[in-house]
Amino acid sequence: MKTEGGGIYREFMEHRIARITEACTACGKCFEVCPMTVYGDFEGADPEGVTRGVVDIINGRPHSPEAEQWVEMCQKSGVCIEACPEDVNPREMISYAKIKLKNAGEGAEKTKENSREYFQLLSRTIRLMAGLQVEPDLFKHLVSIRGKKREKADAVFYFGCNILQTPHILLSCMDVFDRMELDYEVAGGMAHCCGINHIRRGDVEGGAAMGRRSLDLFKSYEPERVITFCPTCQMQYTEYVNLYTGPEENSLSFVHISRYLVENIEKLKSLFVHPVEKRVALHLHGGLDGVEENVRAVLKSVPGLEFVEIDQHSDHGYQCPTLVIPEAREALREKLFASTEAAGADSLVTIYHGCHRGLCGEERYHPFEIENFMTILGQAMGFEYPDRTKNFKLYDDMDRVLAEAGDLLRANGIDPDKARDQLQKAVYP
Ligand code: SF4
Ligand code: SF4
Repeated sequence: MKTEGGGIYREFMEHRIARITEACTACGKCFEVCPMTVYGDFEGADPEGVTRGVVDIINGRPHSPEAEQWVEMCQKSGVCIEACPEDVNPREMISYAKIKLKNAGEGAEKTKENSREYFQLLSRTIRLMAGLQVEPDLFKHLVSIRGKKREKADAVFYFGCNILQTPHILLSCMDVFDRMELDYEVAGGMAHCCGINHIRRGDVEGGAAMGRRSLDLFKSYEPERVITFCPTCQMQYTEYVNLYTGPEENSLSFVHISRYLVENIEKLKSLFVHPVEKRVALHLHGGLDGVEENVRAVLKSVPGLEFVEIDQHSDHGYQCPTLVIPEAREALREKLFASTEAAGADSLVTIYHGCHRGLCGEERYHPFEIENFMTILGQAMGFEYPDRTKNFKLYDDMDRVLAEAGDLLRANGIDPDKARDQLQKAVYP
């Protein structure tokens, strides 16, 4: 088995591109259903021509500006996957087109440099946000910087990187797993990234090597499955797993936490000890198999809880942080908040940590709470980890944040004065 991820990745990507080029008939159906095109300048564009242009991009050929614009606008909602009459995943096709455009635009060295710089900045932001909220020993435990490693576990809880910015969600997951008596080990943090931060910026070698190392760590526990929380990690290790492993190797089973909870719903229900007397609306994104239905089912099993359906743009991206088209982002938020308010909900419930981080500070403008679904499960089980990320955002005052959390930052080896500017950007973007 080869271990250097970059070679395998490129090789497999080219293999996939050849396969897609063969199968795609440039029928244009994926373009026709794409919910992002209304935010672009595609007037008079011919869907067949645009999709033909995408096939040109992945093959390094001259292409139309409309094709390039569409590729840049893809937010990975996956609406196009169902629409394709051939054996092609248009989201996958476009993700390769993005990489090809990046590589062609700036050259390999610059791509690597940009990826490295971005990753370093992100790592430090995550470290600082966690440092505001998590005791040093717990942080070390979470990111697996510790002595003896367990040999075997029934499951690995792979929480990714960014959830460390909202530790109350991560700790709630672990508390629920403990109560469900799951035999698991945690894996996550920047040292165990899936590699997407590099891959998205065009550095396939760096990203693949990173994702491969994480995969090797999961396998070392010989788990029955890996339970994920982050939608990107779940997508990378399912839709794109062969890019890390090559075509022959069998991969581990990756399931999103929402599926694990639904599969064990009777056990989950037996642990609920408090009714949660709230009317809740759920913030949804499509793009990941079953997650919307699973979280709905989990919330509906909570005693006392009243679930209301709301009209929303669930086809806008697969999570909020990567929905980077400003008009689309604005439209999503506007409709979400207006529908939640019109439904008379007490609480707007988020699924993903990235959505929660972006939305929770908006609570101050609305007559409802913004909470994560794991917080709701905790309330039903009789525990709650404070949502400090939200509290800090609601303070809207970095002096107050540092007065409250400065000692914890110092205990984590972080100088509050040096961290201040970056924290300001992270808490109040
Ligand atoms: S994944 Fe979503 S945003 Fe991307 S092309 Fe398909 S439908 Fe459009
Ligand atoms: S990816 Fe599928 S839907 Fe899109 S143009 Fe090709 S064949 Fe048609």
